[in-house]
Parts: sequence; C-alpha cells; structure tokens
Amino acid sequence: NSDLILYVNLELVNKKSDRRYVIKEMLGQGTFGQVAKCWDGETNSYVAVKVIKNQPAFYQQAIMEVSLLSMLNEKYDPDDQHHIVRMLDFFLYQNHLCIAFEMLGHNLYELLKRNSLRGLQLKYVRTFSRQILDALVVMKDAGIIHCDLKPENILITPNVKTAAGVKVIDFGSACLEGKTIYSYIQSRYYRSPEVLLGYPYTTAIDMWSFGCIVAELYIGLPLFPGASEYDVLCRMIEILGGQPPDDLLREAKNTGRFFKQVGSIYPGIEMQNGPISAYRILTEEEIETRESKKPKVGRWYFPRGRLDKLIYTYPWKNLNGENLPETEKTDRLALVDFLRGLVEFDPNKRWSP
Ligand code: ADP
Ligand code: MG
Repeated sequence: NSDLILYVNLELVNKKSDRRYVIKEMLGQGTFGQVAKCWDGETNSYVAVKVIKNQPAFYQQAIMEVSLLSMLNEKYDPDDQHHIVRMLDFFLYQNHLCIAFEMLGHNLYELLKRNSLRGLQLKYVRTFSRQILDALVVMKDAGIIHCDLKPENILITPNVKTAAGVKVIDFGSACLEGKTIYSYIQSRYYRSPEVLLGYPYTTAIDMWSFGCIVAELYIGLPLFPGASEYDVLCRMIEILGGQPPDDLLREAKNTGRFFKQVGSIYPGIEMQNGPISAYRILTEEEIETRESKKPKVGRWYFPRGRLDKLIYTYPWKNLNGENLPETEKTDRLALVDFLRGLVEFDPNKRWSP
C-alpha cells in the first residue's frame, strides 16, 4: 500500500492536467469537499469531479481514496462488472486534489426520500443487495474495508438499458484490513458494534452496515437511528433482542462507557440463576451522569420492537393500500433470516459477503 501511495504522489507531482472540465452544477457536498457535475469536452460526456479541501489531512485521505480505488478498478475489477464506481482521472488544480469519476445518478437516500421514505419493493431490495454484495466480495478479496457504507454512498446507475442498478462510491474513509488507523469511523446509524465498543475491526464492519442498509431499503427508515452512540446500542439491543457477546465486551476498549459489569468475568462459571452475561447496558440515568448530557431526540420514529416483527408487519399494506400477497409474506421471513446473518453482534459469526 505504501508503494501505491508513493506512486500516486509521484503521479500527482508530474501531472499536467491535460483535460478541461467545465463545471455545470454542484452535485453534493461533504466533509471532504464538493462534488461537481462537469462536462468533459474530450470525451463528450459528463463526469463527476470531487474537489478535495486543500488541507493536509483531507489531502492524505484523498490520496488513500485514489490509491485504493485505482487498485480496485484496475486489478480487481478491470471489466467494470462489480458495481464499484470507476475513477477516470485525478489531478491537482489550484492546490486542490481533484478526482474525476464516471457520472452516476441519485444516491439511495435520495431515492428513499423521493419515495416518501416508504421503502422499496422487495424486488429492488433484492437486486440492489445482490449488487452491493458483489462489490463487497471484491473489496474483501482486495482486503479493503470501505468504513462508510450507507445509502448516501450507494448511487443508482443511470440508463443501463432498463435494468435497475447501483454502484458503491466514496472510498474516502476506506483502509486496508490489518492497517486500520482510525477508531472513529462509519456513520453513526450504520456503525458496527465492534467500532462502537472499540474492538479491532475487519471487513465484517461493512457487512453490518450492509445489513442496516438492506433493512432501510425495505422499511424506508434507518434501522438504528440513534441520536447518540448509546442510543444506537440501546436500539440494537431492543431490536435484535440480545447484546454483544461477553468475549467482545471483555476485550473492547469502550465497554465501560456503555456497560456495567454485573457478574463474573469468566464465562461458564456464572451462578445457575445468575446473569447470562457478566455485563448489562447502563440505564439512561447512569449514562446521563457519565456523559452529563441527555441524548438528543432522534430524527426518526417508527415502530420499535423486534426485528422479525418490524419486517413482518411493516409496511402493512402496499403503496396502493392493498393487502400484501402471500408470496411477499414468505419472502419477508427469508428477509428476516438474511438480516439476522448480517446484523449479528459477533463479527466472527456475522455472514461474510
Ligand atoms: P464525501 O466523501 O464528501 O461524502 P462522496 O464521494 O460521497 O463525498 O460524494 C458526495 C455526494 O456527491 C454523494 O453522496 C453523491 O450524492 C454525489 N456524488 C459523488 N460521486 C458521484 C458520481 N460519480 N455521480 C453522481 N453523483 C456523485
Ligand atoms: Mg459520501
């Protein structure tokens, strides 16, 4: 990886921008910079150019984005078959690192919003899930952790005949497995238990986020829309009906922020009628005295309760107000089973792509 980063840096030093990109409109804004829809006169096509803020930290992370994405594009997906965005060019412009990507469509969060946050038909959930998984298989083979999988970072592919499709974008937080540097990663709603708790992480954290996305595509709202990390954990415990395994809690760095040890630290010697786990989640009062501020009220409200109930009963009718066909009801049971494999507390038991 250091070879790759060196290569990209050398490329940049020597690089004269031989293209002209004419900015047409702004597509998005993030912490890293802005994304503009641009006209490329040479190829007569639109491209999306991400202009990185000219601060060292953002520059370094963008170099990582260029390095990892060029590796994924060229080495692992040369024929563009695996639903990962294509990088077309990168260059320095007025001290800003710029990355040109193929032009894609709306992101999945925008799609859900346009659909009034009522969720997508199961056939689309299935198609999109399969394609995201395809991208995740390639990333796992390459040893790349995306670290920010969420609906905003999955874009619709436009005009692919009539077939609906998506691509994974935004490798701006990505890293190599085994070379994890940051502990504060992933967007809160999609943050895995191991990252919340401060436990060494792997590509399995992307599978957690993926599970959250699949559920959200179907129900239309985030699965764990917690207003704080504590709130996210409480929602996980409520919806999944369990908590992270003791092995993880015992070794994770942040366990004490959220849990209280109430039993033996050695598994297997708990009293017969004692706690099944040596840990219990802190109460809201206990958290308040620790964090000295009340968690803000969340953005979303939807029926709380167990995962199976949530998927099986939501939405109760289709968008035309008709009752759901029986086939969809059995498909929902399969969806719950699928989600159970993904939003699994134990990263070792969680399904791989
Ligand atoms: P950030 O790291 O700031 O989140 P992203 O790469 O995710 O940057 O881009 C921010 C937003 O810009 C995306 O959520 C998406 O809406 C839009 N965008 C990014 N890349 C493209 C693209 N290739 N085609 C169309 N829109 C894009
Ligand atoms: Mg993004």
